[in-house]
Order: sequence, then structure tokens, then C-alpha cells
Amino acid sequence: MSASAANAPKRVVLLGATGSIGESTLRVIAAHPDRLQLVGLAARANHAALARIAADHPTVRHVALFDETAAGAAKDHLPAGVTVHAGMEGLTTLATLPEADIVLVAVVGVTGLAPAMAAIEAGKDLALASKEILVMAGQFVMAAAARRDITLRPVDSEHNAVFQCLADNPTKDLARVTLTASGGAFRDRSLAELAHVKPADALNHPNWDMGPKITVDSATLANKGLELIEARWLFDLRSEQCNAVLHTQSLAHCIVEFTDGSMITHLCPPSMTFPIQHALLHPERLPGVEPPLNLDRAFSLDFRPVDQARFPMLGLAYAAMRRGGAAPAIYNAANEIAVAAFLAESLPFLAIPTLVEQTLTQLDPSDPTDLAAVIALDAEARRIARSLLPTLATA
Ligand code: MG
Repeated sequence: MSASAANAPKRVVLLGATGSIGESTLRVIAAHPDRLQLVGLAARANHAALARIAADHPTVRHVALFDETAAGAAKDHLPAGVTVHAGMEGLTTLATLPEADIVLVAVVGVTGLAPAMAAIEAGKDLALASKEILVMAGQFVMAAAARRDITLRPVDSEHNAVFQCLADNPTKDLARVTLTASGGAFRDRSLAELAHVKPADALNHPNWDMGPKITVDSATLANKGLELIEARWLFDLRSEQCNAVLHTQSLAHCIVEFTDGSMITHLCPPSMTFPIQHALLHPERLPGVEPPLNLDRAFSLDFRPVDQARFPMLGLAYAAMRRGGAAPAIYNAANEIAVAAFLAESLPFLAIPTLVEQTLTQLDPSDPTDLAAVIALDAEARRIARSLLPTLATA
């Protein structure tokens, strides 16, 4: 931001306005009307919700719907003077709006990749909530950000915590980054008990209120695996510097360890409004939307190592990270197919890692040369994972 604009509100484009991150982002923006101003919104298909949000924010002049039919339907419901954009081109138009200062990308899956790249190329500050973007295309996204001298602002709670703990410490002094994992809905069940769990059981997360896919990913620890890969790119880590630990309360979000043995952690309640506000306002700090941890009451912080036999998706993530190239993208794609099949009750919970491992062994993960190659490999990984499903399906 230029110095002359230092006191003007930051103009925000929110891609993924109708999901749970979008909802928390709107609360943060509403709490700081002098500092944050919404100028653009995008969603996949929920045009009614998008129209309601636009009506609440008269500063919004552009909206986009990824679903072209929904974009057509939206036109009749939006306030006068709001332009509707459609499809991937529409998301990219929003990500590069001339009036935008910062773009928050919270659309699900691979859909956010092209808009995120476009925002970087347009020189926008970028707040990233969609972990698939770095998992699939970390080398391209980080290279583009470095070229445009843009620091990515992590929105995921663990990565935002690491970003805050690193502060101005030189990276040469960094020994290891540990992300905390709640362990999800099944953290206290044995492997034998997991054989028969149903989607409804997995969706009952003890700490965080999130969508179904990420809630299942929390129960398998695939979410932590994806986050470790994301951290590897965000903070330029080697795989052996990436670590995870079980922490049942979800109050400490990371532990950053320095070469002298000092460790710094970050505490806040398990609500996304904290990292979202930090990512949007950084380096400015203002009162949060929700009360902080109350240190006048007793509470404890438990940490215990992850049993990798119990959570094979974590070991597979480390292996994919070490293998490099497209292996993390294949891991992500196969996991999405596996989780969708589990949610449809056509794949047992314990077969999720099996499907991912089998897909990884069937594809050559050599370095993709460009984004188009990444996207083609993602499609191929999904095709292979789907073809393997019948062999592992629930009887
Ligand atoms: Mg997280």
C-alpha cells in the first residue's frame, strides 16, 4: 500500500463469500467499517446469498458466480448498479478489479488457483484460505509472488499463527515448524473402531465448525497433511522442518522452534475471525470480533505426538512432500475423491488412505512444467482414483 492511502479503508474482494470462511470474513469487515470496505464478492452458485450480502454492502459494485446458470439468475436479484460476472473469467475479473487492494481467496479446491495467480500478477495483496492452491501449484504461486514482491497472507489458523510467530526472525534461525491438530472427531477411537464409522460420526467435530470435506480431513489428519505441504511453500521449509502434534483444545495453533531451542506459540480461541482479521489488516492490530482467551480462568494445553499408524494420511503427506513434483497434487486429488465417496457411504473410512496411496503409486509425479500441466495431472489423478474406487468400495 502506498503511504498516501494509509488511512483509507482497504478495499477487499472476497472470493468464496457464502462459505464458512466467507461468513467469518463478513463479520470481520462489519466490525471495522473504517478500515475495511467490501468492493467485490464471488461464490460458486448461491446467488440468493450473494445478493443479500451485496445489499448489505453498498460499496460492492461487482459480483461473480462460478456457475454460469446461477450468474444468469442473479441478475434479477442484485441491487441496481452491481455488475454480474460469470465463470472462471468472472472470478479472475473480480480478483483483478482495479479498485481492489486485497483479495481473499476462500473458494473450495482448484477453482481458486487461476484467480489467485491473476491477483498476484495484478499486484494485489493476497490473503489465502484455500490450501489446495499451494498444495497443487506452490512452486508457481510462490515464484509469481516473489517476482511481484507480494507477501502472501495466510488465513488458515495454523499458518497465520506461524506467520505471526516468525515475525521478523531471520529464516536461517528457524529450526522447525509444528502445526497443531485437534485430531478430529475420532481422536479417541482405536483403529479397529474406525472400520465402521459413518459420515455422520465424522462430521461431529469437537472444536471447529467447518464444511463436511474439511471435517472428514480433520478426522483422517489429511487436513494436517495438506497444511504441512502448504506450510512448506509459505515459509520455504524442507520436509524435515515440518511437524505436527496433537493438541486437543485447539487454542495453540503452532509452535515455531528456533535453532537455539526457543519455541514460540500463538494462542487464540478456535474461531477463524482471528486469523482472517490479522490477514486483512496486517500490520495493523485492532480489537477482535470475539473475546480473546480468558487468562483469568484456568485452562490447560495438552500436546501429544501423532501416532502415524493411527493416521496414515499424515505419513502419506510427508512421503508426497519428500517426493515433490506433482505428488502433493495427486495426494490432494485422490483424497478429494476418497472423501466424496466416504460421504456418499460408498467407501469405508479406513479405505481413504488406501485409495490415496494406490493413486500415488499409479501416477508419475515428475515436476509439472506449468499450471496447465498441474491441472491436467489433477484431472488424471481424479480419473485414476475414481477407477480404483470399486475395488475398495463398501460391500
Ligand atoms: Mg487449519
